[in-house]
Amino acid sequence: ASMAPTEGDVQPPLRILFFPFLLPGHLIPMADMAALFAARGVRCTILTTPLQASTIRSIVDRANTSLGFLRTAELLREPFRRFLSDHHAEIDAVVSDGIFHWSVDDAVGHGIPRITFLGTSMFARSCTEAMLCSNPFEACSDDPAAVVSLPGLPHPVVELRGQMMDPAKRPHEWALFQLIHAADRRSYGELFNSFHELEPAYAEHYRATLHRRAWLVGPVALASGSGKDVASRGAIAGALSPEAIGCLRWLDKKPASSVVYVSFGTMTSFSPEQTRELAHGLGLSGKNFLWVITNGSAAAASTDLCMPDGLSMAHRDRGYIVRGWAPQVLILNHPAVGGFMTHCGWNSTLEAVSAGVPMVTWPRYADQFHNEKLVVEVLGVGVSVGAEDYASCVETHQVVAGEMIAESIKKAMKKDGDGDTVWKKAEELGVMACKAVEKGGSSYEDVGQLMEELMARRT
Ligand code: UDP
Repeated sequence: ASMAPTEGDVQPPLRILFFPFLLPGHLIPMADMAALFAARGVRCTILTTPLQASTIRSIVDRANTSLGFLRTAELLREPFRRFLSDHHAEIDAVVSDGIFHWSVDDAVGHGIPRITFLGTSMFARSCTEAMLCSNPFEACSDDPAAVVSLPGLPHPVVELRGQMMDPAKRPHEWALFQLIHAADRRSYGELFNSFHELEPAYAEHYRATLHRRAWLVGPVALASGSGKDVASRGAIAGALSPEAIGCLRWLDKKPASSVVYVSFGTMTSFSPEQTRELAHGLGLSGKNFLWVITNGSAAAASTDLCMPDGLSMAHRDRGYIVRGWAPQVLILNHPAVGGFMTHCGWNSTLEAVSAGVPMVTWPRYADQFHNEKLVVEVLGVGVSVGAEDYASCVETHQVVAGEMIAESIKKAMKKDGDGDTVWKKAEELGVMACKAVEKGGSSYEDVGQLMEELMARRT
């Protein structure tokens, strides 16, 4: 996408190359981000494989059964090198997914600033940095219930060993993140899908304490247009199933703030036992629920196509199931939705923040336990279900009881008494998020600042 330079402007527009990792949680925000820079006059190119979104979906499904997926990132190294070699004279900056840590060598080799984007919060980024640099596990017991504190952060952050990326159990993941962070330290700076008012202490920590350049330009989903664009955002070939379209009509019939939206992103699946407990918890909560079941999960294979095991026909009027892709941003912004049960993937978290919806947090792995801390303890806009073990998309995990799930939903969605603050804070943050991306807002200004810096480098 490109825009002509304004009249009297002697400089040709900036040219930024975006290089996203091929998972929806990385690809979607980077595409949104490119659109946002294009709207400000930058000529943006997204370098990716010629595969259609449907093929990307199949990669995701494969990823759910193969932890070696991260290694396939290596396959893009040679094509990236060739592209940069052919086009380096036409590129002002590369925005590379952090997972492609090796892209720093090619960018530096051509004298092009590499700007990294990992698609997480500044809070989670700071926690991971603290964890990688101090290795707090060395001085701690092996017990998964052992409390680990992360040093040097603006707030005292403690997690259970079992909730963390433990190098004793995950040496490959640990080594990969060491490479990612080392490459980021050698990069020009880092883009964040976040906004200053959301995590000011961490923006400050990142810039002043760690001496890094950081631009907070989100929530990028707010810049992704309206109507049809938002509905089909991320859907395979831009098409939604009749079931997915039907959920919006179903929401239209429900009272304001009466529905809990339940979705765990694109990678996470639960055991059949956990799926039954979740269904049981939704039943017990007494709330209406809209539950998105991804293709890979146990519930998708449930024999009852109307309701997964654990829910009876009695719950039929209260519940709506979408199998496959749902128009998440539209759902979260629907007035009937009053809560979001989420795995705390950063895109989902920020989309909930933008919509002013309280969260019921159920992290599983990657940055999700850190994001939960930010949501529940720092921002106070969510209630935790009490997940205690870091388990990647395909690993078995501790089962959270239906009663606990129901209690957390009721607490997060309560509009009076204790729940009032969660709900009110969520609403206030939603207003701040929208202001950040408007003209003059903090994220709008950060986009402008990065553009100015890159333009100044030309001379
Ligand atoms: N998403 C969606 N519909 C779905 C599932 C996911 O639109 O049915 C979008 C969601 O809005 C978010 C992204 O996919 O933008 C998921 O990213 P996140 O970081 O939350 O989780 P991940 O899938 O990477 O674990």
